[in-house]
Amino acid sequence: MKRPADASGPVARAAQRRRPRLAVWKFSSCDGCQLTLLDCEDELLALADRLEVAYFLEASRAVVEGPYDLSLVEGSITTPDELERIQEVRRQSRTVIAIGACATAGGIQSLRNVLDVDELARTVYAEPSYLDVLATATPIAEHVKVDFELRGCPITKEQLLEAIGAFLHGRRPAFGTVSVCQECKRRGTVCVMVSGGVPCLGPVTQAGCGALCPAYGRGCYGCFGPAESPNVASLMRWWQDELGVEPAATVRALRTFNAAAPAFADAAAAADESGRPGGEGA
Ligand code: SF4
Ligand code: SF4
Repeated sequence: MKRPADASGPVARAAQRRRPRLAVWKFSSCDGCQLTLLDCEDELLALADRLEVAYFLEASRAVVEGPYDLSLVEGSITTPDELERIQEVRRQSRTVIAIGACATAGGIQSLRNVLDVDELARTVYAEPSYLDVLATATPIAEHVKVDFELRGCPITKEQLLEAIGAFLHGRRPAFGTVSVCQECKRRGTVCVMVSGGVPCLGPVTQAGCGALCPAYGRGCYGCFGPAESPNVASLMRWWQDELGVEPAATVRALRTFNAAAPAFADAAAAADESGRPGGEGA
């Protein structure tokens, strides 16, 4: 005979325990960072066991009303509508983690910050009058309190799992603040800049990618944004003096995924103005 379920047993208690609600939000972005969550194939079932995926339009049509315990926010703020929406997301979220270069540094769309948006719109769109955009693309933390940021374009699965695991256990995520050079050394990659004269942003870029590009003989593109206390101007001068890189090329190298990150933006602006990163005479 089937025994009645024990309503006070561990299985019933586990079922009754409310799982924290997860929401995944998109602002101006390419969706690549949200996809990283779906890329957690082996861990997805375990995650779904611990979190209620309440709002994730890229993966599910079902929407559970807020408030939410954890919000992952992708993308930068580029329109008046997004200015309002990010305030609502913050109001509904206990913890906010900004994910990716768009959300943490404005992303590739922040290239507009040093250009004339109206001129760009006229060049790209047949009917620019339909556009309703801000003059700048800005990171989430410029508008609301952000509890933690994950760098990268896109973020990595490992850092996302670490951040979610830390949230579930009520601790800070454990990420180092070293540069990509240290990851090169750890995996035994020969330095492409020293051995091959290839310009590389690794010395001033936050680690996290596993030094992927140097492992394939290419210089680091700076996807993870500036490392802690980077001397960007010094590296750019070294590129110019030792590798013969043109001043305009140093500016272009800094104005990519993390163009609006202050350390990259300031060095690029100085080089753009005087031809020398760090300013004239440097
Ligand atoms: S950071 Fe890169 S991968 Fe992530 S949404 Fe922005 S452009 Fe896409
Ligand atoms: S290849 Fe780039 S990231 Fe790697 S050690 Fe050399 S400078 Fe640093």
